[in-house]
Amino acid sequence: MSYRSGRHFLQIPGPTNVPDRILRAMARPTIDHRGPEFRTLAREVLDGIRMVFQTHQPVVIYPASGTGAWEAALVNTLSRGDQVLMIETGHFATLWRDVAVDLGLDPVFIPGDWRHGVDPDEVQSRLVEDSSHAIKAVCVVHNETSTGVASRIPLVRKAIDRAGHPALFMVDTISSLASMDYRHDEWGVDVAVGASQKGLMLPPGLSFNAVSEKALQAHAKAELARSFWDWGPALTANQKGMFPYTPATNLLYGLREALEMLDFEGLPQVFARHDRHAQATRRAVDAWGLEVLCSNPDEFSSAITAVMLPTDQDGMAARLLEIVLDKYDLSLGVGLSKMAGKIVRIGHLGDFNDLSLIGTLAGVEMGLGLAGVRHQSGGVDAAMSHLAA
Ligand SMILES: *Cc1c(COP(=O)(O)O)cnc(C)c1O
Repeated sequence: MSYRSGRHFLQIPGPTNVPDRILRAMARPTIDHRGPEFRTLAREVLDGIRMVFQTHQPVVIYPASGTGAWEAALVNTLSRGDQVLMIETGHFATLWRDVAVDLGLDPVFIPGDWRHGVDPDEVQSRLVEDSSHAIKAVCVVHNETSTGVASRIPLVRKAIDRAGHPALFMVDTISSLASMDYRHDEWGVDVAVGASQKGLMLPPGLSFNAVSEKALQAHAKAELARSFWDWGPALTANQKGMFPYTPATNLLYGLREALEMLDFEGLPQVFARHDRHAQATRRAVDAWGLEVLCSNPDEFSSAITAVMLPTDQDGMAARLLEIVLDKYDLSLGVGLSKMAGKIVRIGHLGDFNDLSLIGTLAGVEMGLGLAGVRHQSGGVDAAMSHLAA
């Protein structure tokens, strides 16, 4: 591989670019996790992370990728054979379903076309049919990172309420947290699953469960085997600024820095910044004469845009990705499972500004040309006009 000058453009939808401030914060000696200095750090991050989930309730932090926090959400609240209502919005919803199957749960999986989010009416009718309340949880991915479709969580909450159903409501916020509005308390979510490597601008390695009172009541009765993932010992230790095992101290340094940055910018400003960059990206896609995978404008993701490539031009997605990496040191997201070879995904979340977006889109536009993807030029111009307006 030849020498690459300048910055790598890591525009996959997670992990995202880690700001220098956060890298520096993590490059410090690890300290005694039972000492007074650690307790201050633990209290700061355990308190601060609640701001990001917009909750006053506890958040459990795991030294694990998001997949671990998926498992934690289920094993802490459910028992073997419990039905869980899950919806096939894309790759990540399917993987969460697989976790449920592995754990001995009984997922009711509503099929989807990967171009739409969760249909609240469908959730309502499934729950109304379930008059014996066999369904114990409704599990939804907020921002489906494999498709760029964002489900409308408040509408799903209303659907559960309209059905008068007591199921727990669990939401995967992994790629929406700290990039798109997510309100744990106001939206009445019982367990939210988050991870460090997307909107939080951290390296992979931390994940989260934000937990409601109702979820804690379910925890007291849940019978699935749990040990490492058990909320109980974590919540008890956390009250003293401790963890029940050796915590990922240096990632927690990074988390403290990220929380400070997000607090300084302000969550509403963070969300508005992502909305605007997503709009500019869609202008570019339109101008290229290409189509965004998400079919419903009310469900456009502000964190990632999936672009469909011409179906009659085989192998173009792989070619485009290879060319932009080779020529421009730009990493874009591949299409996952059902979307393999059909789309490319542009991540525009995390530590990102107007010029990083324009650089990214310029890389895509030049790559479309070099790869020979049928398109029109002018996408970057359209995005610039939007940003400058
Ligand atoms: C990235 C992602 C995951 C997977 O998390 P890992 O950290 O890779 O285990 C799950 N759900 C969504 C929505 C994601 O974006």
